[in-house]
Amino acid sequence: MTQDSHSNESNQTSDPGLPAERLLDVAMDSKTRQDGPEPIQQAPLSPQELAEKLPQFEITECLGRGGMGVVYKARQKALNRWVAIKILAGERQSEPGFSAFFEFEAQTLAKLNHPNIVTIHDFGVADDLYYLVMEFVDGMNLRDVMRDGKISPEQALAIVPPICDALQMAHTAGVIHRDIKPENILLDRDGRVKIADFGIAKLAGSGTGMNAGTPPYMAPEQYGEANGVDHRADIYSLGVLFYEMLTGQHPDGPFGEKISTSGMDPKISSVVSRALRSEPEKRFQTAADFKTEVEACVSPEENALPPATPPPLPPAKKKGLFGRWWWLLLVGLILGPIFGIAVAGMATYFMPKTYESFAVIELHLEHGFPTSKEFETFYQVLQSKKSLGEVSDRLKMDQYFGKSRAQTIPLLKTLIHFDNIRGTDLVSIRARCNDAELAKQLAETFTQVAQQRARELPWIREIQIDEQPAVPRSSVSPNQFLNLALGGVLGLVTSPLLMLIFAGILEFLFPQRKALA
Ligand code: ADP
Ligand code: MG
Repeated sequence: MTQDSHSNESNQTSDPGLPAERLLDVAMDSKTRQDGPEPIQQAPLSPQELAEKLPQFEITECLGRGGMGVVYKARQKALNRWVAIKILAGERQSEPGFSAFFEFEAQTLAKLNHPNIVTIHDFGVADDLYYLVMEFVDGMNLRDVMRDGKISPEQALAIVPPICDALQMAHTAGVIHRDIKPENILLDRDGRVKIADFGIAKLAGSGTGMNAGTPPYMAPEQYGEANGVDHRADIYSLGVLFYEMLTGQHPDGPFGEKISTSGMDPKISSVVSRALRSEPEKRFQTAADFKTEVEACVSPEENALPPATPPPLPPAKKKGLFGRWWWLLLVGLILGPIFGIAVAGMATYFMPKTYESFAVIELHLEHGFPTSKEFETFYQVLQSKKSLGEVSDRLKMDQYFGKSRAQTIPLLKTLIHFDNIRGTDLVSIRARCNDAELAKQLAETFTQVAQQRARELPWIREIQIDEQPAVPRSSVSPNQFLNLALGGVLGLVTSPLLMLIFAGILEFLFPQRKALA
């Protein structure tokens, strides 16, 4: 007798509805049995090893392993589509007859064209390796779903009918699956149900003399001669599966009489009991009958309500926006601010700088501090064409700017700023331009012109210079610190976006190493 080990890729935590010891029982029990010596299981081929044998595929990961084969996710390069490739497990390859079983599975699948049965694309031998190419079902097998969380009765009621449909079609085509169990039922992300693994299927009426199946799911007659087994064995197995989805446990024994359906809805209980009858003739006689009865449990008003929704599958493993280029985000977050500061530093260095020379004059009046009106008059005198023209002449500003005298006057207006320090008799003069020496000369000359013109204003007794204009030592603008900080922040904020674009380009350039969706 052969024991197949069955493991799947998912590392599931224990089912809250199923005690840990039961999970172990289930796992130990759900191994497909076939007559023959028990082989020592070999490590499956790595995706790279398989890719060497099947260069027309890009093998990305191992999806699962059953009793007979190992299943991989792959991209068929020529058609650019995802497929699942099943190969005969290493220990099975040398076993006589197993390749024939495998070929039989391929031919059986090819016969069964049904939305609830995995579609076969191809079958072949490469380098002594038998392989079967089928549609990739993006989801989980029912065992994983059951481990993830308890399935609600509504979900169980939604999962059984499509399996009945598929079985009915297979049975009509003369194919008996013989290994209906959670590991062989796949659910895709949209909740569609597909039967997989026709590895030990048998043609109705044919008898190999070999019994096969997975003990907890096997109908009593499957323990006897294979030619005594017909399609009703699948109905029994589906009954076990249904019971397990509803209770999280296997029926107590392989015989219908022993099962406990206490606590179950009486209608559902009667359907389960009937599917699990030990005598095939007392069970549902067809998968279609089974389906009808299950659907009648959904709604008392003869299926007036829509069918129950299938269980939600966990969302696709999120690998983030960056996929396998996630490290670019880290690089971006570190280099972004450094780059931003560097660019801002360079820009600040090459940016034209403005220097400001500052002087303060004190207005001595007959009567205390100047009123705002008086300051306004003083301001107008200083801003007049006469004053500005005087400054322009003294400093030969027309030559400096390469403009006419008339044109330099409005320019000077923008370079000089006056302010009365409120509540005092102090007036500040600021000369701003991008030449430090000129700024000082402007402030100086304005101070002198102000002194001279103030004589025309009778209310000003005297002007004293409080603070002498000086050559500014450092530039007033740009504000270097602010620029560097802004550069850093901008670099930090924009780096994820830039890196995302970069990741996109890399992904485009190196598609053969594309991350799995
Ligand atoms: P075995 O005959 O060795 O039992 P199976 O055909 O049952 O192999 O496949 C083993 C596991 O691989 C399944 O339980 C399922 O998790 C996964 N698997 C099989 N076929 C597919 C497929 N077409 N798409 C996605 N996963 C699959
Ligand atoms: Mg299997």
